[in-house]
Amino acid sequence: MIFTMSKVLRKQKDWLIGPHNTLRNKIIKDTFKYFILYFFIFEFLLMGYYFVTNQPVDTVISVLQSNILAALITFIIIILSFKKTLQRHIHDRFQIIQKDMKIIKKGNFSKRIKLESYDEFDQMVYFTNSLLDEFEKKIEFEKKYSLMDPLTLTYNRRALSLSFSKFSSRIKRGDKISLSLFLFDIDHFKRLNDTYGHKMGDDVLKELTKVTKQVLRKDDTLYRIGGEEFIVLFFKLPKQKEEELIKRIQNEIGYQLRKKFPSLTSKLTISGGFIRSAKYDLSNEENFEVMIQDADKLLYEAKNSGRNKILF
Ligand code: GH3
Ligand code: MG
Ligand code: MG
Repeated sequence: MIFTMSKVLRKQKDWLIGPHNTLRNKIIKDTFKYFILYFFIFEFLLMGYYFVTNQPVDTVISVLQSNILAALITFIIIILSFKKTLQRHIHDRFQIIQKDMKIIKKGNFSKRIKLESYDEFDQMVYFTNSLLDEFEKKIEFEKKYSLMDPLTLTYNRRALSLSFSKFSSRIKRGDKISLSLFLFDIDHFKRLNDTYGHKMGDDVLKELTKVTKQVLRKDDTLYRIGGEEFIVLFFKLPKQKEEELIKRIQNEIGYQLRKKFPSLTSKLTISGGFIRSAKYDLSNEENFEVMIQDADKLLYEAKNSGRNKILF
């Protein structure tokens, strides 16, 4: 009996002021507390006044009784209207915000919290939405630039691995893809750094990247895979065009860098190795690494036989 009574009471309490620790609960509880406090202060002052003015005791008691009754009715009306307003302006709004926040937390960073009006709540929502805008921009930036080399703004080693995976999947699906890999390295770059300074070295790397990209066709991609080491992946490059294109890259690098940096006393040259994919089974991603190793052997040979040389 007592158990069911307390259950019913708890249900009523939940209906009226909401579950423990909610804003609605706290506001209604505080309102109750201050209502009682101010009511007693008021009654106390009233009694003082009656005492000073020598009112008859009967009158005092009946005023007190009717005051208590009026306070009780007022209190119930206040709480009921409070419950409605709090529900509308606080509780429901929080529910919407919470729902949207949960969607965002799951990783949907393009979701924004709904705006209702222009009150303080929405100022906070607006602020949160702006933070989300910034956050989203940052994520996009990171996504893009984690594949970019920050100095030359060309693709990096990670992007190369990603390209390997993509090509490998396409080949597995039956696509006929022919690729060629050109690995090259700047000759005597350390000497250039030592003579003209690291800043000049950086500028040369940037310019070399720019010049090389200008020579490449739309489908070919340049990757910076180490300090002064680069890879170009050529997509379906006809055999008879290979030497011509590589020669153009070599010439442009030499010519354009000389033009851009007249203070360099000697011509900037590169050495490298060029490998065709025909004899590699590229449906196995690991064979891309084998291709790089073979290109590296050619590069090593080129360096040992006097530099400024590309071996095929
Ligand atoms: P080789 O002809 O045999 O390739 O000689 P090298 O001097 O070019 O090669 P080495 O490997 O001895 O030196 C490479 C130099 O590249 C050393 C390093 O300081 C420089 N380097 C690597 N990364 C950067 C970079 O980001 N900026 C600059 N300025 N220099 C770099
Ligand atoms: Mg070098
Ligand atoms: Mg090197």
